[in-house]
Amino acid sequence: MDFHLDEEHRMVRDSAREYAERVLAPNAARWDAEERFPEEALAEAAAAGFMGLTVPEEYGGAGMGNLHSAVLLEELNAVDASVGVTLSVHLSLVCAPIAKHGTEEQKREWLPKLAAGEVLGAYSLTEPQAGSDAAAIRCRAERVDGGWKLTGTKAWVTSGTHAGLFVLYAVTDPDAKKGYGITAFLVTPDSEGFAVGKKEEKLGIRASSTTELVLEDVFVPDERVLGTVDQGFKIALETLDGGRIGIASQAVGIHRACLEASLRYSEERVQFGRPIGDFQAIAWKLADMATALDASRLLVHRAAWMRDQGLPCTMECSMAKLFASRACNQAAQDAVQIHGGAGYTKEFPVERFYRDARITEIYEGATDIQRLVVSRNLKKRK
Ligand SMILES: Cc1cc2nc3c(=O)[nH]c(=O)nc-3n(C[C@H](O)[C@H](O)[C@H](O)COP(=O)(O)OP(=O)(O)OC[C@H]3O[C@@H](n4cnc5c(N)ncnc54)[C@H](O)[C@@H]3O)c2cc1C
Repeated sequence: MDFHLDEEHRMVRDSAREYAERVLAPNAARWDAEERFPEEALAEAAAAGFMGLTVPEEYGGAGMGNLHSAVLLEELNAVDASVGVTLSVHLSLVCAPIAKHGTEEQKREWLPKLAAGEVLGAYSLTEPQAGSDAAAIRCRAERVDGGWKLTGTKAWVTSGTHAGLFVLYAVTDPDAKKGYGITAFLVTPDSEGFAVGKKEEKLGIRASSTTELVLEDVFVPDERVLGTVDQGFKIALETLDGGRIGIASQAVGIHRACLEASLRYSEERVQFGRPIGDFQAIAWKLADMATALDASRLLVHRAAWMRDQGLPCTMECSMAKLFASRACNQAAQDAVQIHGGAGYTKEFPVERFYRDARITEIYEGATDIQRLVVSRNLKKRK
């Protein structure tokens, strides 16, 4: 067993760190304040090869795996969680299922564009009445000559305003048992009847775009069905295993940023004639933050490694997300506390980290849902 990143992983980490410091760090707070989707940052990410990191080489990507992606996403999220989630969705919830379930034509049509950053990907499963209970979606796909007509409202779509391709889930057989009768479709925003609805105003990750989608008789040809008709929910869930590694990596990145900011501040801030880091109450918080950060990262890297080996890892992906997102929220809470009043203002980045941390416990399966997944898998593996 070797706990070190190999040379290729270190290369990804170093180039992601350089990009994050150069492109994201000077702008992240402003983009957050302005709620501005940072198109220029994504163009630079594409130029650096990040948009196609895990896309197979024959389709224009770098052909790397989940562990590379976890390393990349930790670095981006340590500086800007809005760009972090945008990349996470693009790679894990769009590029990955197309590479795995797409026909040769679909892969040739979409993966090179996704890898080059010409097209940004979005994943649309959730609906207003179907969040944790995702199998309760109602967006309806009706059979018509040559394809399907989709009608319904989707909710909470990351990158909804900017995506050029949506992996969108709709009900093809309303009489099927729950979890069946759902199909994954590749939908483009230029389709007639497709509209981007309300843009959400959020507590955190404010520079990422989150929208509703409204579909009225949107025609999707048969060639744009991803995988098998009526079997799409399996793709949705299997895809989310990878997505959870991405969000757990986001939590690790935000957590690390909280620790680094707190270490700096605790050395600089003097009270009672000493840097506050000299007080045991502060030093212990820092020790707990550092220990939990390592534990989170180890869980994330294990899950990513298992997925790269093709091993069953639904439970490990959920464990990583469950632990890392909770640890990240504790770290964000402690970071604000260590900064005192300063941490409650926009003068210091921990205020943004605190707001961004909250989402890691909500999307791609809220904390309680991760517990459900872990507990069910414990029973299965008995
Ligand atoms: C910023 C943002 C971006 C998002 N991006 C996307 C995206 O790109 N694509 C997409 O498809 N979705 C996206 N989502 C949706 C996200 O995945 C859902 O919000 C999430 O799954 C929770 O669903 P919900 O909000 O409807 O909460 P609910 O399901 O209503 O849950 C509310 C609370 O009840 C708890 N709960 C629910 N069921 C159970 C249970 N059985 N046992 C115990 N507790 C339970 C939950 O844990 C939670 O605490 C995004 C959401 C947000 C906020």
